[in-house]
Amino acid sequence: MHIARDLNALQDGLAALRGGGQRIALVPTMGALHAGHVALIEAAKRPGTKVVASIFVNPIQFGPNEDLSRYPRREMADIRMLTEAGCDLLWLPSVEVMYPDGFATTVKVTGVSEGFDGAARPDHFDGVATVVSKLFNQIGPDAAYFGEKDYQQLAVVRRFVADLDFGIEIVGVPTQRDDDGLAMSSRNIYLDDEQRRQAIALPRALGVAARAIARGEDADAVLDDARTTLTGAGFVIDYVALADAETLAENPPADCPRRLLAAARMGATRLIDNIAIEGATGPGGAG
Ligand code: AMP
Repeated sequence: MHIARDLNALQDGLAALRGGGQRIALVPTMGALHAGHVALIEAAKRPGTKVVASIFVNPIQFGPNEDLSRYPRREMADIRMLTEAGCDLLWLPSVEVMYPDGFATTVKVTGVSEGFDGAARPDHFDGVATVVSKLFNQIGPDAAYFGEKDYQQLAVVRRFVADLDFGIEIVGVPTQRDDDGLAMSSRNIYLDDEQRRQAIALPRALGVAARAIARGEDADAVLDDARTTLTGAGFVIDYVALADAETLAENPPADCPRRLLAAARMGATRLIDNIAIEGATGPGGAG
C-alpha cells in the first residue's frame, strides 16, 4: 500500500493506480480503525477498482468542548489493518496540508443537516461537508463509501454531492456491530466495563422500538418507551426520533421509508445509532 502525506505524493500515487483505466473508490475515515471501517474497504474492492482510504482527524468538525485532543490516533495499527484489508493507497494529510494559512471556505448544507446531530453539534456537518468536498476534489474518486452508522452524515454527503454536481457514486454500507449488537465505533474505547455493558441498551431499545413502529404502534408512545429504557440504563439522551429515511424530516408518514435515529451519552461518551423501520429503505439502502 502506497502512503501519501502531501498533495504531490497523492497525485503520483493516484496516477499510478489509474493506469489501465482503473476506477477509484474512496473510503474516508478518521482512523482508529475497526471492523466497521474494514467493511467499507471490503465493499469498495471491486474488479477494476482501486481503493483509496483517507485518515484525517478533521478539527473543524469537532465542537470546542468535544474530544478532538483525545480522539484515538493509532497510525501504525491503522496502516497494518488497511494493508491487510487490501487498500491500495492511503491519504494521510496533516492539518497544515488540509487547512493551510488563509483557508476561509465552508461547504454548508441546509435542511438534512439541521436536526439531530446538526442541532446537538453546531457546525459539525459544515466541517464534514467541507472536508469531504476537499477529499473528493483532491482524489477525484468514481465512488465513495460511507457507513450507515453515521446515517445523517451519509444523507448530508448525498445532498451536497447531488447539489454540487460532484458526479460521484455514494454507497452506504450497513452498520457493523459487536456480537452483542453495539455499533462499532472508534469512541467505544472510552467506555469502561460497566458502561460498555450498559451501552447495549441503545441498539436493543432501537430494535424494540423499530419493531413496534413497524407493527403499527403509536410512534410517539414507542419513542417515549425507548427514552425511558435508555435513561434507566444510565444514558443521557440527546435525541431519539423517527424520521423520513431520505430527507430526515420528522413525523414521516407510515408509507414512506423511515429511520429511527438516536444519540445518547454514557458518562462522557456520546454514542449514536440508527435502524431502518422494516420494509423501508433510505439513502443507504436496506439495513
Ligand atoms: P469515522 O472514522 O468514525 O469518521 O468513520 C469513517 C467511516 O466509517 C464513516 O463513513 C463511518 O460511517 C464508517 N463507520 C464507522 N463505524 C462504522 C460501523 N460500525 N459500521 C459501518 N461503518 C462504520
